[in-house]
Amino acid sequence: MPKQREDCLFCQIAREGAYVHKGKGFVAINDINPKAPVHVLVIPEGHVDTFRAVGEFDAKESKRMLEFVAETAEKVGLTDYRVLVNVGPTAGQTVFHLHWHILGGGNDPSEVPAAAVATAETEL
Ligand code: AMP
Ligand code: ZN
Repeated sequence: MPKQREDCLFCQIAREGAYVHKGKGFVAINDINPKAPVHVLVIPEGHVDTFRAVGEFDAKESKRMLEFVAETAEKVGLTDYRVLVNVGPTAGQTVFHLHWHILGGGNDPSEVPAAAVATAETEL
């Protein structure tokens, strides 16, 4: 697992946040500014700046990270949802510690956020 950084908000949240789900090496929290009825962030405890550096996780950790995303969605009651990662500032990344957005609206398909809704403020 990559090392933590003292000066990083999400490293700190991974250490002491209010989790909706926690597993070995990963936590999930509610997004402070939700863009969907359910909006959760999955955060690895180890620091990598962006998804571009996903290779810093070993194969087992990468698999576990994806499983943890699926487990978290289930735990917060979602069967239908969108998983999204913003990579780089022009794609809408504002926090430079890798995180996975899970966006959903309960189990009514009409409430799943529309395609390409992203959380980006910037148009791709
Ligand atoms: P991104 O724009 O993809 O980097 O996503 C960053 C997300 O982190 C945004 O959806 C923010 O609302 C969310 N966020 C920022 N600070 C916090 C915080 N302290 N607790 C929970 N969510 C946060
Ligand atoms: Zn960090």
